[in-house]
Amino acid sequence: MKTADEALQILVSSMRPITETERIPVVDGLGRVLAEPVISPIDVPAYDNSQMDGYVGVAVEMNNALAPLPVSQRIAAGHPGAPLAAGTVARIFTGAAIPQGANAVVMQEQTRSEGENSIRLLQPVMPGQNIRPKAGDLHRGQVILERGRRLSAADIGLCASVGLAQVSVIRRLRVAVFSSGDELRQPGESLSFGQIYDSNRRMILALVQGVGCTPVDMGCLPDQLSITRDRLQQAASQCDALLTCGGVSVGEEDHIKAAITTLGTLDLWKVAIKPGKPFAFGRVGEAVLMGMPGNPVAAWVTFCLLIRPALLTLAGSRVNPPVGLRRPAAFEWLQPDSRQEYLRGWLDPQGGVRIHERQNSSVLSSVTESAGLVEIPASTPVRAGESVRFIPYTELLH
Ligand code: AMP
Ligand code: MG
Repeated sequence: MKTADEALQILVSSMRPITETERIPVVDGLGRVLAEPVISPIDVPAYDNSQMDGYVGVAVEMNNALAPLPVSQRIAAGHPGAPLAAGTVARIFTGAAIPQGANAVVMQEQTRSEGENSIRLLQPVMPGQNIRPKAGDLHRGQVILERGRRLSAADIGLCASVGLAQVSVIRRLRVAVFSSGDELRQPGESLSFGQIYDSNRRMILALVQGVGCTPVDMGCLPDQLSITRDRLQQAASQCDALLTCGGVSVGEEDHIKAAITTLGTLDLWKVAIKPGKPFAFGRVGEAVLMGMPGNPVAAWVTFCLLIRPALLTLAGSRVNPPVGLRRPAAFEWLQPDSRQEYLRGWLDPQGGVRIHERQNSSVLSSVTESAGLVEIPASTPVRAGESVRFIPYTELLH
């Protein structure tokens, strides 16, 4: 059996990242992978500007003034003023350009009006105070986002802040998603005795979309070798990756394994995690194939731990391993499995880790009712209060 880390290592290092790029509007970039670094064409800010509503002047003159300081001009954001007249201050507003000759802004709350159009400082001001200096955030020519980064909302804002309307990204990965099993019926259909609804395929399509790939719904495979083989082959000609679920264990009705072996190459692994032991990895034509187990929670866990990092790598993205948090267990787990376990759980308000009471891999509500995975190392009993690793889904699926 491979450990989860070994399996991940093999998967990720076997991916040959796609390289086709396209230019897209920055505004459409959420979740897209940068094909080249983003370089700022300007300084940000592009000019010294005021951080406050107040008065701008020369610090030493303002601090040493014996008489009230005359206000010689008014400078609003977007309306640069004239050079500052000696011995005066200018009214200034947040974001407005500092006039030539001035070096400090005093907050209006720290001034008092004196007569018609003069002010007095209530406390001294330091040179540079309340001024956002030119290039204080970014400078021209600086790499502001690295190649391989998946754009976040803040990244989109950053690109816009340097005036970029378009970015160059890797094209979206096309990912075919299959379910398999004669017992499966589709939502909207009625169920007969012995049948269940096909939950995994919808879930996996959504997971694929969530990592920024284009999911392609390939339907449900019957438990029949020849049809399975034909449909996998057809999908491989249209997609970069094929995902299947079910049909990869050792039963006679598990046809995915046989289909891939005749079409391409297959490595079938037992990964030492629970849930999620049977896992298929191979190639059909140019496409990568990854086969998840059929139990819904096992499919969820293997997607989070193995498939997502593999897809991101294939999509040209850099992948940061989840960090998680170490927190005291607010539960006991005294009969651990010999495989590393991933229980569904959450943090309680006191910061302890709790687990869902139903941990069977068929219980999908244990996923919807939890906030992350609790990692139990192989053969390691956990007593209440002992520290365990909790990995929030937000870290596993963003
Ligand atoms: P298998 O690996 O095909 O033997 O499936 C293992 C278990 O997962 C069986 O109980 C299947 O009925 C169930 N299962 C397989 N595929 C799905 C699916 N798409 N949605 C819900 N349950 C599934
Ligand atoms: Mg099956």
